[in-house]
Amino acid sequence: MTATRLPGTHALLSDNDGNAQVLAALDSACRDLSLPAHTREMLCHARDALQAASVDAEVARLRYHALFDAVPDPVSIIDEHGIVLDLNKAGMAAYRRPREEIVGQPIHVLNPDLPEDHMAPVWDAVDRGESFVIEVSNMRADGTRFPVEVHSAGFLHDGRKCVVAVARDLSRRREAEVRYRELMEVIDKGIVIQTADGSLVYANSAALRMIGVPGHVPGHPNQRTPRPASEWMVVREDGSEMPAEEYPATRAIREGRLIGSTLLGLYHRPQRKLRWLSVTSVPQYAAGSDRPHQALSMFSDVTALKRDSALFHRVQTLARIGGWEWDRAAARLYLTDVAAGILAQAQLPASIDDMIACLAHDDRARFRRAVDATILEGHGFDLELQGSRADGHAFWVRVIGEAEPGDPGASRITGTLQDITAHKQGQETLRVQARTDPLTGLLNRDAILGELAARMADATLSRVAVLYIDLDRFKMVNDVLGHAAGDALLVTAAQRLRRAVGTEGLIARFGGDEFLVACSTADDPDSPERLADAILDAFAIGFGVEKEEFAVTASIGIARAPDDGESPHALIQSADTAMYASKRRVRNGRQVFTPAMAQSQRDRLRFETQLRHAADNDEFHLVYQPQVDLVSGRIVAAEALIRWRNERLGEMRPDHFISQAESTGDIVRIGLWVLRMACRQVAEWRDAGHGIVRVAVNVSYRQFLGDDLAANVRALLDEYALPGAALELEFTERVLIEDAPETMNTFAQLRAMDVALAIDDFGEGYSALNYLRRLPIQGLKLSQLFVAGVPGNASDVAVCQAVAGIAHSLGLGLVAEGVENEEQRAFLLALGVPVGQGFLFSPGLPADQFALSLGAPGTR
Ligand code: C2E
Ligand code: CA
Ligand code: CA
Repeated sequence: MTATRLPGTHALLSDNDGNAQVLAALDSACRDLSLPAHTREMLCHARDALQAASVDAEVARLRYHALFDAVPDPVSIIDEHGIVLDLNKAGMAAYRRPREEIVGQPIHVLNPDLPEDHMAPVWDAVDRGESFVIEVSNMRADGTRFPVEVHSAGFLHDGRKCVVAVARDLSRRREAEVRYRELMEVIDKGIVIQTADGSLVYANSAALRMIGVPGHVPGHPNQRTPRPASEWMVVREDGSEMPAEEYPATRAIREGRLIGSTLLGLYHRPQRKLRWLSVTSVPQYAAGSDRPHQALSMFSDVTALKRDSALFHRVQTLARIGGWEWDRAAARLYLTDVAAGILAQAQLPASIDDMIACLAHDDRARFRRAVDATILEGHGFDLELQGSRADGHAFWVRVIGEAEPGDPGASRITGTLQDITAHKQGQETLRVQARTDPLTGLLNRDAILGELAARMADATLSRVAVLYIDLDRFKMVNDVLGHAAGDALLVTAAQRLRRAVGTEGLIARFGGDEFLVACSTADDPDSPERLADAILDAFAIGFGVEKEEFAVTASIGIARAPDDGESPHALIQSADTAMYASKRRVRNGRQVFTPAMAQSQRDRLRFETQLRHAADNDEFHLVYQPQVDLVSGRIVAAEALIRWRNERLGEMRPDHFISQAESTGDIVRIGLWVLRMACRQVAEWRDAGHGIVRVAVNVSYRQFLGDDLAANVRALLDEYALPGAALELEFTERVLIEDAPETMNTFAQLRAMDVALAIDDFGEGYSALNYLRRLPIQGLKLSQLFVAGVPGNASDVAVCQAVAGIAHSLGLGLVAEGVENEEQRAFLLALGVPVGQGFLFSPGLPADQFALSLGAPGTR
């Protein structure tokens, strides 16, 4: 720098005060009237001239000082001996001294630490035409020091060499530097500066803490031991090794741009220590360079965060709970991976509308309303919503959402999204199971009652009809082939019902082999009949069960609401009544309910009530039908047959009421009464001298269901002092089919009492011959069904021959029932059947008449 001539420096040393004194003296002299007038005049000219000159000098001086003082840094003018010639205002402020204490003093007043020859290097530089720069500490009036950087330049003043020294206060910069260094050391972010080859220029303590295995900072040139290249490995988020050219610092230098939050793992092989860092690298340019030469990287240790987020993610995945956030301002929807996985759309939903679009139609409005309410009113929502995935599968989600707490505008709505599909499907399965007949998959009794109740309560749906369907001869299949075959038949029947009814009605399994169809009659009043015919057609084909074909037909009753019943029960009852009417008339048909049926239904109910009270009212009595030796014609025994005489209903045959009593269970009481009456009768005849007449008593299968039969028989035999041989119990094969647990035990006990056992109506049932051998029975009764056809009907003849053969080969007694004529008797006799029973010999007789036919007492 060349020496500078400052403007107005001639006035530098002008003695302002001296001028003023002279001016004041001249002014007072020219007004001194004691002086001669022209002297005063001259003095006045001199005063004016001096005044004018003073004004010019003052203007220049002021201009100079204005400039001098405008400099913000302390500026001092120093002469060649180191004396301060001038100091600006900034200087006075910095040194906190008045001008007079400095001007005219050696420079040491500002910096007492300067060596004696301190001006020598300054003049060397100034003589070379350069400025001199030095950092020193200057001193304030109170002795305190402050750092300054002094730039000195030379200039000439009236041929004298001077120096103008500008001292820049470094206190602030020093403080900033210290603060910066402190900041770097206390900040919890790791900060490193690396060169292009990856070596470390700087690492703050957080960086050393985070990544430093003591003495081992990857890439740090100051490490104590040389680092084997294989000791550290940098890994990507997925755990694969990250190549060096992918490091954020390398990229920042190469690409000359900021590389934001990159997740990487630093793995220290010997210690098996893995730290996860989120790194941001910024390129740094050397002064005057257009290419970065190093990079500053900031990073935080996200190991714990990553562990938490990995855990969180795992928990989300396991619980199938995802998170979602709707940023309203940005109109962006954010879904966690799990949430996105649950919704499983072809394209990731990016807006709230996308999310709504994958919901089921009805749920879209629900969800939107809930979101709107959250925006308006601030309270959150918790909804169960249905939707469908891209692959068409339905999903159920529980969506919880709320505005972020403290966000008055609800600008963000966040929440969870949980997959509850399995739970919902479970519930649905339970609901379906509760409504479904497990065997056939049709609705069950409760479900159809519920459906009917709902329809009949709804005026718009109440025009409904019920078809009551009962399978004819189903019991036979069940009895003969067993329950498994029966079940298979029901399943087939249900399939046929489904095909016949289609979507026109609801189908339910109402009982064992009873089905209900409920259909609407609103559009087509004849639809029940049409459906019934379709069902009858469906049952026209035989059912293949275990390679055999069975004709299982259906009887159908039809009842319409509200005429035939105003409640589901009443309606079904009417359909049931119609079905029974159909069954009685012709099997495999349909019958529409009529009020007359309701009457007969009521009659049947009344009949049931009467039957229940018949025993108490003494309305039963027994008749005795003789069993006759076919060769000698002698009565060998009697069969007790029950009769019911009722005032209102007249005399009734057991065929009418026994099955009724069996279905209500009344037969058990009635049967016991019969046993008692029979025993009493035998005892009476014995006491009358007719000896012991063996009486056969019919015993219902229901009497075998409990374990009382043997005990009751024992008690009666004891009561009337009769030998067991006085009784024969006739039972049908139904007893064997029911297979009650106590049956065999009961048989054994009866045999132990010497009571005879015989199978009634033999040949009618589906007797499996093998069980006959195992049963402790003494006789068979050849069913009158076959006796009626002999000798004319070949198949009846064959059955009679077979039964006679069986009885003979098993050593069983045989009684032929229903012998009405001589031809039958002759045929049976020829067959070797020993005993017969029938109108040819006698009908059932009152006890006294029977006694007469026994002949005079004591003759037997
Ligand atoms: P069942 O045991 O086969 O009794 C024989 C039936 O054949 C009796 O009818 C009898 O009157 C009738 N019968 C006798 N001889 C002839 C004949 O030559 N021709 C024809 N066509 N029929 C003849 P009933 O008395 O009406 O009894 C009907 C059924 O009621 C009986 O058939 C039996 O199964 C049942 N039953 C009768 N009394 C009782 C009883 O006290 N207890 C139980 N559990 N069932 C009874
Ligand atoms: Ca019988
Ligand atoms: Ca019989």
